[in-house]
Amino acid sequence: MNVLAPYKRLTIKIGSALLVDKTGGLRSAWLADLAADIAALKAGGAEVVIVSSGAIALGRGLLGLSALALTLEQSQAAASAGQIALSQAWAQALGHHHIVTGQILITPNITEERRYYINARTTIATLLGLGAIPIINENDSVATAEIRYGDNDRLSARVATMIEADCLVLLSDIDGLYSAPPAKDPDARHLAEVRVITPAIEAMAGGAASHLSRGGMTTKVEAGKIATLAGTAMIIAKGTEHHPLRALTEGGRHTLFHPAQSRAQARKRWIMGTLAVAGTLTVDAGAARALQTGKSLLPIGVTRVSGEFERGDAIAVLNTDGAEIARGLAGLDSDEARLVMGKRSDAVLELLGTGHRAALIHRDNMVLVGAKEDSHELG
Ligand code: GLU
Repeated sequence: MNVLAPYKRLTIKIGSALLVDKTGGLRSAWLADLAADIAALKAGGAEVVIVSSGAIALGRGLLGLSALALTLEQSQAAASAGQIALSQAWAQALGHHHIVTGQILITPNITEERRYYINARTTIATLLGLGAIPIINENDSVATAEIRYGDNDRLSARVATMIEADCLVLLSDIDGLYSAPPAKDPDARHLAEVRVITPAIEAMAGGAASHLSRGGMTTKVEAGKIATLAGTAMIIAKGTEHHPLRALTEGGRHTLFHPAQSRAQARKRWIMGTLAVAGTLTVDAGAARALQTGKSLLPIGVTRVSGEFERGDAIAVLNTDGAEIARGLAGLDSDEARLVMGKRSDAVLELLGTGHRAALIHRDNMVLVGAKEDSHELG
């Protein structure tokens, strides 16, 4: 059975131990085969985002630091040198299939602060729309100990939920979750599926990391919690052999973590529940109708802006009676919103400059109030 068949937008995380051999060399033949698998998924209509580790592992070799336990400074320098090699390797491997790659380096503020979040999301969506494949890693050279993910398992889960991927695939050196660490316990049982991440499941994950990766099963199960709560399925599969994604589509062994709720529900809860409203926009009847049909909120339909808010803050949309009809993340600051309200989009771009987006709330960042939970599938 092809376990990847249901998914349209995949985030695939590649661990260092797959890309880099024990001597610090790139496993280029393996990468070439993986690139062929990715090209096949893309040809089949899926959008693919890669989260690739391996910068530090490659950079060590390049800088002659192979035999050492690295200091923080050395690993940040290794990441800096290795990231160039890593990007080059990806650009070449996917370029062979006429696929353009775009590099995005992330620190936690980018996935956690709404201003950056909206930008990163838009850039990734734009790259995907242009047929390119974003290659993402943590910006290890500048991230400090206090503000870094430190492992690409959790980072990839945040990326997957940020871009509303329907599935996150973690390719590592183990083919899934076992009831106990299989290296230590001969009776360890492989789990094909996890419906809910219970404390018992978390307890199964206790175990050591491999020779290169930072995370072990613990960070993978944590990634599973982030992903499944946001409505993204997660698959752990072994990636060490050639053509690991093809193997998955042909029934290769894995553990599937089912999403805990739909993405639309998760997003709605996030926008409606966890964010305080910083301001309101009152809209005319035409704009109110346009929102009901799933359109973005454009300045022309806005008659009043209240409150002080920044781009990315949650704001409420009111109809002419003052009733809340939608809530979403502001595409402009309140000052800019006041400047452009009631104006046509071409005039808006003239006022703000073409680098700006014309929507006051993009439909992907908006939830209609009173709509049925799943009626506004986003993405
Ligand atoms: N970002 C790190 C690197 O590229 C890898 C982190 C991890 O292995 O999870 O070397």
